[in-house]
Amino acid sequence: MNDQARTTLPAPRLLRPWLLLVATGLAAACGGSQKDGEADPETSAKKPNVILITLDTVRADYLTCYGATTGSTPAIDGLASEGTIFERAVSSSGLTPASHATILTGKFQYNHGVRVLSADSGFKLEDEHETLATKFKEAGYRTAAVHSAFPVSATFGFDRGFDHFDSFTASLEAKPGRDKVSWDVQTFQRRSDETTERTVSWLDEAVGDAAQQDQPFFLWIHYWDPHDPVKLPPGDSWGPLMNSPELKDIADRQTREYAGEVRWQDQNIGTLLTALRTKGLLDNTVMAVTADHGQGLEDGMELHRWSNHRMLYREQVHVPLILRGPGVPAGQRLTDQVRTADVAPTLLDLAGISPIDGRIDGESLVPRIEGQSGGDLWAYGEQINGYDFNAGMWKHRPDATFLFMVTDGEWKLIYKPSMPNMSELFHVGIDPKEVRNVIGEHPEQVERLLANLSERNPWVTEPFPMTEMSSEADGGKSDILISLGYSAADKGTGNWWWTCPRHTEVHSDKRQRCPEEGCDRILIPMVQWEEPAPK
Ligand SMILES: [Zn+2]
Ligand SMILES: [Zn+2]
Repeated sequence: MNDQARTTLPAPRLLRPWLLLVATGLAAACGGSQKDGEADPETSAKKPNVILITLDTVRADYLTCYGATTGSTPAIDGLASEGTIFERAVSSSGLTPASHATILTGKFQYNHGVRVLSADSGFKLEDEHETLATKFKEAGYRTAAVHSAFPVSATFGFDRGFDHFDSFTASLEAKPGRDKVSWDVQTFQRRSDETTERTVSWLDEAVGDAAQQDQPFFLWIHYWDPHDPVKLPPGDSWGPLMNSPELKDIADRQTREYAGEVRWQDQNIGTLLTALRTKGLLDNTVMAVTADHGQGLEDGMELHRWSNHRMLYREQVHVPLILRGPGVPAGQRLTDQVRTADVAPTLLDLAGISPIDGRIDGESLVPRIEGQSGGDLWAYGEQINGYDFNAGMWKHRPDATFLFMVTDGEWKLIYKPSMPNMSELFHVGIDPKEVRNVIGEHPEQVERLLANLSERNPWVTEPFPMTEMSSEADGGKSDILISLGYSAADKGTGNWWWTCPRHTEVHSDKRQRCPEEGCDRILIPMVQWEEPAPK
């Protein structure tokens, strides 16, 4: 890319202020070093608090700091101007639990294993994976989560490591006559005013103000409003928003209400920031604001025939990423492509805590924040809609049965093994809105990006199996699913085979390297996909 890596002058390397305090304190106390996980209240109290805010379903371009024209979002814009904003952050999925698992672990789906919302397995973050919560808890932090909807709950394994977990318990049910397994969206969500109120109550009770604070905290707040219009803001806020000059003329109702809910949510984030400021907590708090995915809306419908999520176009995967607090320079805008997988490594780094164990896909963005340009990072994304009981959509959009995305920031491939001829290549360096599919014109790019996908081996070539754990945990619910025609085995009759991106005449029944003379490429999967027979 010829883009300048940054639009402000490189900042000098900053010494994180708390580091100095810790170092001085330790030298005075014992002169020794202290290992992670053996937090001493004296020193850990000086570590920064960390707040992670995930905005469900919020596209970057609906925030003013990312160029929105739908009215201002002053609270988030304020965080951006007091901190560092990443202009090109990419999420790993258009699906809430899968994407949140990436944010919390720094891993992509083929590594953390949360790939669907509902199936016999493949929806839960297993205990072997460390998360931001388990890491901060180990390091002596008080940990809390306050949520606004069911898809980030304990059902998906996100409760581990939290002292306080204010979430939802719902069940996924197959209703006769519906084409998918779903949860009760009416009941199991709350508005951002209530979420903020509950968060501030927790701060009052568990933390107090800066003078009273005896332990640093890690707090994850999940907001939901723009996901759907089920719980609209109260009339005295909603009326003026809908009648504001920026919104009143938007003809598409979904888009108008979406923009209104983003602004309403921002007002409540403003309330939260005021509370943190009043308590004197804001200055010693690292804040990260990001989203799990975006939403198609009116332009997504026009460009890509899709107004919702569960896809991997820019409308779904270009998300905000803003950092503010100790160690983060103010007023900086970075243009390198980064991933939501980088959030966890970055927050741990900013707090001086050791990285998550095992194979991590993300990396700390601290060197970039401190002035080193690293260039664009490869981003990955997927949708395993065809094996997700909650995804009815692939029946009207069969090309979206399975989607695998990879982008180096200049080119982006969406590979569709169930309908390979519908795969898409965008030259995002010159076509950021992904208007023109140029897959027929650049076979060398297709091959290069497919090779990157193959190396990752992200493929899911059969339904998620029933495990001992899942059959126990669902209390026989799967029997109901099977009787309604939702058993994994009945879901489609995918018949997968493998081929070489260069030698398409090669057919293999397993993943291996191309047997053609002088060709070493790893084969890619293709599938003959048929809809399940009606019951
Ligand atoms: Zn979501
Ligand atoms: Zn070959």
